[in-house]
Amino acid sequence: MSTFQAPKGTYDLIPPHSATYLAVRDAIAAPVRRAGYGYVETPGFENVELFARGVGESTDIVTKEMYAFETKGGDRLALRPEGTASVLRAALQAGLHKGGNLPVKLWYSGSYYRYERPQKGRYRHFSQVGAEAIGAEDPALDAELVILAHDAYRSLGLRGFRILLNSLGDAKCRPVYRAALQEFLRGLDLDEDTRHRIDVNPLRVLDDKRPAVRSQLADAPLFRDHLCEDCRAYHAQVRELLTAAGIAFEDDPTLVRGLDYYTRTTFEFVHDGLGSQSAVGGGGRYDGLSEMIGGPALPSVGWALGVDRTVLALEAEGITLELPASTDVYAVPLGEEARQVLFAQVTELRRAGVATDLAYGGKGLKNAMKSANRSGARLALVAGERDLAEGLVQLKDLTSGEQRPVALDALVDEVRKALD
Ligand code: ATP
Ligand code: MG
Repeated sequence: MSTFQAPKGTYDLIPPHSATYLAVRDAIAAPVRRAGYGYVETPGFENVELFARGVGESTDIVTKEMYAFETKGGDRLALRPEGTASVLRAALQAGLHKGGNLPVKLWYSGSYYRYERPQKGRYRHFSQVGAEAIGAEDPALDAELVILAHDAYRSLGLRGFRILLNSLGDAKCRPVYRAALQEFLRGLDLDEDTRHRIDVNPLRVLDDKRPAVRSQLADAPLFRDHLCEDCRAYHAQVRELLTAAGIAFEDDPTLVRGLDYYTRTTFEFVHDGLGSQSAVGGGGRYDGLSEMIGGPALPSVGWALGVDRTVLALEAEGITLELPASTDVYAVPLGEEARQVLFAQVTELRRAGVATDLAYGGKGLKNAMKSANRSGARLALVAGERDLAEGLVQLKDLTSGEQRPVALDALVDEVRKALD
């Protein structure tokens, strides 16, 4: 194994490609920030208990995908496989729900870890941006979150995504449906693992992608025929609000999610250009989660969007984001005195908000100009002893090649004008 090899299932973000990731994170965050969500950051690991209880003992995430370990001090921890349980834990710990100002709206962005079989769009370390609205039961919140995710994708120029929508019922109708589904599933020809799943997490069987299982599910009972009156009315309102907002969605009665805690509204954003790892984001309502982790009743709704897959979706649609050049001005000193003077000018330009870089390492003119071109800068500042003796530097437009002398003491203004 090479020393310079990242662990299996991981990859590094490296310039210039990494700029796209940053821009995607910013683009996803922008709509939620405009909608009153405050930034929250939690540790990269938590007590393993939190995920066991909050994500669910019967989920693949907890049983197969979690990086759990014991510390030298004997604490049982896990690298976070998802964000919601941690964010809710943090909100409860800080008592954010006690201020009488519900819902508590939070957004986050960070790294998540799952021990999965690595493939395109599926990694062991990946990045999500998420949003949670904690402590309110209001179909407008569910709709708001779907709209915000939709607008985030659209702001990136994405067109090829679809929104799948379903309701998973509540504490009243879910057990009834679950029992009906279990009875149906027990009559099928299934392998032992799947039969076990019928007992612990039957809804997940609906999510099985294998054709031999899929073909047997055609007549499975659907939740939409088992929703109680409250859940039915709630779902109708979510759908109406989305329709009124001009959001196209598809009802998908088989949509379930990998996490146990979802109730009522469940949605997924899928992109058709991504092959089998098609989910770019997903979320829904999780009214029971707070109590599951030992808190008060706090009906909540949220989503998490995958940054890695969103970047893949951009590639699939052939979209290149228009990113501002990281360097506007590149300074090329010729000689020791020039180096000192330009170094000071570079600092001043940066403080004035101009993205500026300098040729380091005593490069000669030819090499330095090559670096200037490679930096993407629009302007170069070139100065030698003779210019400086007259209080001048040469300002060169790297696109047109035109060059003119500029007085040192007017440099910041002249550069700004030239960049306008
Ligand atoms: P999948 O069905 O593809 O495994 P999931 O239901 O496990 O997805 P969520 O837990 O809902 O995914 O996470 C939200 C988003 O995070 C996903 O839609 C996806 O974009 C991204 N994501 C999840 N797991 C991974 C992973 N292993 N690698 C890259 N992105 C991921
Ligand atoms: Mg998964």
